[in-house]
Amino acid sequence: MTITALVTGAGSGIGRAVSLVLAAEGHRLGLVDIDGDRVEAVATESMHRGATGVVPIAADVSSENDVGRCVTQVVNDLGPPTAAFANAGIEVNGPTHELPMATWQQVLGVNLTGVFLTAKYVLRTLIDCGVGGSIVCTGSPSAFVGFAGGGNAAYSASKGGIIALVKSLAVDYARHGVRVNAVVPGSIDTPHLSIGIPADERESYLEDLRRRAADQIPLGRLGRPDEVADAVAWLLSARASYVTGSIVVCDGGLTARGANDF
Ligand code: NAP
Repeated sequence: MTITALVTGAGSGIGRAVSLVLAAEGHRLGLVDIDGDRVEAVATESMHRGATGVVPIAADVSSENDVGRCVTQVVNDLGPPTAAFANAGIEVNGPTHELPMATWQQVLGVNLTGVFLTAKYVLRTLIDCGVGGSIVCTGSPSAFVGFAGGGNAAYSASKGGIIALVKSLAVDYARHGVRVNAVVPGSIDTPHLSIGIPADERESYLEDLRRRAADQIPLGRLGRPDEVADAVAWLLSARASYVTGSIVVCDGGLTARGANDF
């Protein structure tokens, strides 16, 4: 069955990969990212892969006006979304005793409030339509295990909040036929991995990360965005019809080892 799906953070990494998998399945896509050029490029790629309609939207998920506008535009151009991947996220690290309030608010604003707002506006259309649907939110191992590199408090708190939010929404909206789940990507090879690393050090940083992954991640490597995308596409589909309030971990065994050192 063809669905209309909203994907946030669609311009890069995991969001882009999910958009392309959903496109290949012939769905209609509302693609949202803060970077308008990038999301336009993913929209074009999605049409080539087989999407039956695509609306690219430049928007900031931490803004209630922006998220409301995105959902309205998708409803008007493609029809009401019955699936959403609330995925846009950022990471800014630093020791808590030195962390500026503005940084804390920025990370919580994009990662946690962004997911809340996406769920809020998509749930409104889902309730109006009365046909049920599926929402998947992006967590992180940082929600469960302290980051060995340190300075991860704001990011960890935002991702821990997402896990709590998912469970709460799953219980609240089950009676409307809406499933809400989290995907927990481990160390996935996207631009997110080298956030905060100066451009001229990025390649050697990533090389070191890949070397350590071979030793320390049970499956012996970093993950690929498409490996997370397949899990998300399953959770969004009717094939996962009895799955709600779940946390699907795609981390090569990293957290099974009890670690978060990437
Ligand atoms: P990515 O390649 O950086 O993609 C994230 C996308 O979201 C980027 O295009 C980014 O734009 C966009 N974005 C940032 N702030 C936004 C906002 N306020 N509104 C709308 N879009 C915004 O990273 P990724 O690895 O795919 O990350 C996707 C999600 O997975 C995030 O929630 C991240 O925390 C989570 N995650 C990633 C990993 C990993 O190892 N990659 C592991 C665990 C969890 P800019 O580039 O301009 O910021």
